Amino acid sequence: MAKKLAVAIDGPAGSGKSVSAKLVADRLGYLYIDTGAMYRAVTLAAIERGVAGDVEATVRLAEELDVRLEYKSGVTRVFADGAEVTEEIRAPRVNDRVSPVAAIDGVRSALVAKQRAMAGENGVVMEGRDVGSVVLPDAEVKVFLVASIEERAKRRAKEYAEKGVEVSIEDVERNLRERDRIDSSRAASPLIKTPDAIEIDTSNLTIEQQVEKITALAVEAGAELV
Ligand code: C5P
Repeated sequence: MAKKLAVAIDGPAGSGKSVSAKLVADRLGYLYIDTGAMYRAVTLAAIERGVAGDVEATVRLAEELDVRLEYKSGVTRVFADGAEVTEEIRAPRVNDRVSPVAAIDGVRSALVAKQRAMAGENGVVMEGRDVGSVVLPDAEVKVFLVASIEERAKRRAKEYAEKGVEVSIEDVERNLRERDRIDSSRAASPLIKTPDAIEIDTSNLTIEQQVEKITALAVEAGAELV
């Protein structure tokens, strides 16, 4: 039996986490978990229920909302209390509110518990901001992705353009900088690179090269390709 590992991929928005994590999970036959989608689903629900400014109500929502992720063939579908929210959680209004929601201690502990339960004893590739530091500190492979702000903004703007959402590159860059600032400076499990994580700068890498590097680290740690 091949060893079932945990692969933690952390880094700022637009650093290439999602695209790499999905493809690495496909190559290893592992479960893929996008923790950011869970913070987004809670944020969307808080906005829609009019409680986004209310810390206690938001924590209750994080505890009680039934967030499900269904990953198949490169696409993660996200459900909140049974309703699909896959598209809505990526909207600019959620981008603007998600980091303050994710900075709330009680929101984090509720979602971290769910993330650990989802990973269970499976081989898993989990991406986020605190996977290697908090959610799965014993992960055998820890990767910290970085990229220049210009490259990250370009990637996000392209994703919006493909979806037909009109946002200027300046607004995308402003939102990325603001989320970086809040995510890195918050008291509750901030975005940090742990000493045992391998940093990969994806600014000048192709997707194939990123995936190759991370897969090689997993294989070195004992994972097998499917
Ligand atoms: O990964 P994504 O950009 O979709 O995450 C959205 C936001 O959720 C991040 O900017 C961050 O504020 C929060 N987040 C977090 N911890 C994680 C994943 C995401 O705080 N593990």
